[in-house]
Amino acid sequence: MSLQTRVLRARERMHELGVDVLLLSVGADLPYLTGYEAMPLERLTMLVLPRSGEARLVVPRLEAPRLTPQDDLFEVVAWDETDDPVALVARLVGTAGVAAIGDHTWARFVLDLQLALPTVNFVRASTVLAPIRMVKDGDEIEALQRAATAVDTIAREMRLWTFSGRSETEVHRDLVNRMIELGHERANFAIVAAGANAASPHHEPSTEPRIAPGDLVLCDFGGTMRGYCSDITRMFAVGEPSSEVRDTYAVLQAAQEAGVRAATVGTPCAAVDAASRRVIDDAGFGDYFVHRVGHGIGQDAHEDPYMVAGNDLPLEAGHAFSVEPGIYLPGRYGMRLEDIVVATDAGPRRLNEAPRDLAVVG
Ligand code: ZN
Ligand code: ZN
Ligand code: ZN
Repeated sequence: MSLQTRVLRARERMHELGVDVLLLSVGADLPYLTGYEAMPLERLTMLVLPRSGEARLVVPRLEAPRLTPQDDLFEVVAWDETDDPVALVARLVGTAGVAAIGDHTWARFVLDLQLALPTVNFVRASTVLAPIRMVKDGDEIEALQRAATAVDTIAREMRLWTFSGRSETEVHRDLVNRMIELGHERANFAIVAAGANAASPHHEPSTEPRIAPGDLVLCDFGGTMRGYCSDITRMFAVGEPSSEVRDTYAVLQAAQEAGVRAATVGTPCAAVDAASRRVIDDAGFGDYFVHRVGHGIGQDAHEDPYMVAGNDLPLEAGHAFSVEPGIYLPGRYGMRLEDIVVATDAGPRRLNEAPRDLAVVG
């Protein structure tokens, strides 16, 4: 889908929702519509897209050279260091009644704009864009597939890596480097959690202690490649795991399989969560699965739709999301297994194909 078509769709939805102007700053909404990503600076970048009429991209003067002119999409308005960009945006917003502002916009700018535009009713831009961004077209799925294939390659290589004697941060650094080497423009995260550390789902890699025989190591990593995100979790046992760990892992793998199989078009997102959760509950680990089963993925690593209890949204062909159940035993060990899945009319399609069994490493 071209950027022009995306803008057209956004405007149609603004019309349906009675939104007069869309205001986009940092975050994935802006590149989704314009191909331009704002740096997360203290200086304001903001696309001012009225429901009809000319769109303007307000940027700090020093950022203007990064813009490729797109006359048909927006006019560039560069501001100088001594200008007041909030006043500038407020002037462009004019007499709008309802403004949809990007969910990730810095609070300082939201607060200043609210003060400068006291009669404007502000709503979240995700109300306009999330339903559009959620449904990926062929090119977007292709981009997600390329990113997934790159991290799959790393997950396969890791089965031959030595973990024992190394620190989590060392393995983390190798993951980041391999993601860049295999074509990602950036690594977004690389969680490496050994032993009891993995009982904390988003553990920050540490330099001490070293990974040791008997540790179970959780590796969850992903980055951005040609604008689209990868995200995969695989588990590594340093030396032969205990039968208890093997049995727990079998439950996890069955839970992940059940979640993926449930992800057919028309199924509510909540049912994907429930399908995985039921397997873990039935095995008696229900209290140790402390998060939703998945998140949407695209230009953002986490975006709509979320596979979570209470989300009745039915899956549509083109929805892309993770299925990543986990079991976390405080003070002992933790495990998670994650693939990116796309709902298609032919059934759920996994983008990740790296082996899912518990890899035994040195
Ligand atoms: Zn996570
Ligand atoms: Zn992940
Ligand atoms: Zn994830």
